[in-house]
Amino acid sequence: MSNCIFCNIASGIIPAQKLYEDEEILAFQDVSPQGPVHFLVIPKKHIPNIMELEVTDTLLIGRMLHKAQALAQEQGCAEKGARFVINCKSHGGQTVDHLHIHVIGGRPLGWPPG
Ligand code: AMP
Repeated sequence: MSNCIFCNIASGIIPAQKLYEDEEILAFQDVSPQGPVHFLVIPKKHIPNIMELEVTDTLLIGRMLHKAQALAQEQGCAEKGARFVINCKSHGGQTVDHLHIHVIGGRPLGWPPG
């Protein structure tokens, strides 16, 4: 989608600090980090949010989660853990309408969310 910021990052029109890329998925640093570690994992194809995920996307979302885990480990989160978050629509606090997994770590995080 031409007006989607994450589609434009995926296609290289908007720059990002990329951590990983293949034909299906991309991981990059969040521009407004909420911890020492904060990156996003997105599908390159435009899926607006997790409510739109199809059963045919099962392998894709699995690969995204596994890459999120691997990158979190690379960034030193294996021992103490991290937060893996998918916000969805207005009640979920989603601000960019392109499915993404947040990985936030490197400090203790509170719960429950406000
Ligand atoms: P959410 O509120 O779950 O939709 O999260 C969207 C995230 O995208 C926020 O944490 C933003 O800081 C991040 N973000 C927005 N624009 C960019 C960008 N151009 N590059 C990297 N991260 C971005």
